[in-house]
Amino acid sequence: MKLPTCATCQHSFSYQESIQYYWKRKCPACETKQYLTTKSNVRTSIPTVVFILFPGFVVFNLVDSFWIYTCFAISFLIITLLVLPFFFEFSNERQALF
Ligand SMILES: [Zn+2]
Repeated sequence: MKLPTCATCQHSFSYQESIQYYWKRKCPACETKQYLTTKSNVRTSIPTVVFILFPGFVVFNLVDSFWIYTCFAISFLIITLLVLPFFFEFSNERQALF
């Protein structure tokens, strides 16, 4: 597991800076807009599917309560958001989604 580096200035993102990428989309050192590479888009979609969809289906089939299901879904979403920065890889240019 490795945190991303800026494609322009090679600044190594701290964990906190990687989390801020969700709303900033910029390198904190050189302020250049950073895009996720195609490879990293594919890699981030895998844990997203595993963390959100799969436990969602399991919980939905086992637990008969909408609220328990909602709590599980939110917990998994938060865990996913916390884990995803390790799958980021940045580029200067926008790349195709897949
Ligand atoms: Zn930078």
